[in-house]
Amino acid sequence: MISSSAPVIKSVPETGYIAGNDQEAFEQHLSQHLNWFEERGLTVKFWWRDDDAVSPTPALEELLAFSGQFGIPLSLAVIPKFATEALAQRLVTAQEVHIVHHGWQHKNYQMKSYGEKASEFGWRRTSKEMAKELAEGRVILQNLFGKHFVPLFVPPWNRIAPRAVQLLRQQGDYGLSAFTWINHFRLPRLQSHIDIIKWKKNKRFIGWDAARRRLDLQLCRRRTNTSEPIGLLTHHLDHGEGCSEFLEVFFKLTSAHPAVRWLSSQDLLDEAKRDFTLANGQV
Ligand SMILES: [Zn+2]
Repeated sequence: MISSSAPVIKSVPETGYIAGNDQEAFEQHLSQHLNWFEERGLTVKFWWRDDDAVSPTPALEELLAFSGQFGIPLSLAVIPKFATEALAQRLVTAQEVHIVHHGWQHKNYQMKSYGEKASEFGWRRTSKEMAKELAEGRVILQNLFGKHFVPLFVPPWNRIAPRAVQLLRQQGDYGLSAFTWINHFRLPRLQSHIDIIKWKKNKRFIGWDAARRRLDLQLCRRRTNTSEPIGLLTHHLDHGEGCSEFLEVFFKLTSAHPAVRWLSSQDLLDEAKRDFTLANGQV
């Protein structure tokens, strides 16, 4: 909520970094941003979503190690149709790992030849088909992952049609997680904002300068609204050059900073549901 006493955004922090050292600039800029919150007794909420998990792999192990090392909750968006018992077994003892619902089989049904953007739960599907897949997906994930499962739907390619949102609403307890803060649907939501991958051509880290600018935008927005968490988005199977290095630096800096709270999707979804109920006058 924005109150009349909300701080006014005057300018982004001075960086004072050495030209040419983008990593150093990133770290200084981020620290200065977070210090701004600390000085005012405010905190910034972060959460971490990693997409497309189906089985244990060395790339996934790296993320699990980061989660353990820095005490950061990890939400794995698992594709139900291909989710394996091996992944479930691997996560039985994992602390701070939650499973969220990533479509059904990550298949695009939109017409690429017509210039339509990829979506599995898009407007070209019938409600009947999608409802069946949603229900089956939920059963699979609950059976495999038990208490680790969180009813947060992550549509493949972060796109979902209104008809599919209606189906989620009928499930009663689902939240929705897509990308950026543009999400008009009337459901509790938990967005992702910082995608660390440059997808075009060779998949790789977006770069320190792009990461600095993206975080700058989000942190400036949080100065007047600290309630919305900032969502980090990763795809462990597509982590090319630079992604691991970035994550280690980012987690190290943020996990040690007093103005940062890394929260789980479970806690944040509960919070989003409470806010949603209040916003809709259902008390
Ligand atoms: Zn995906």
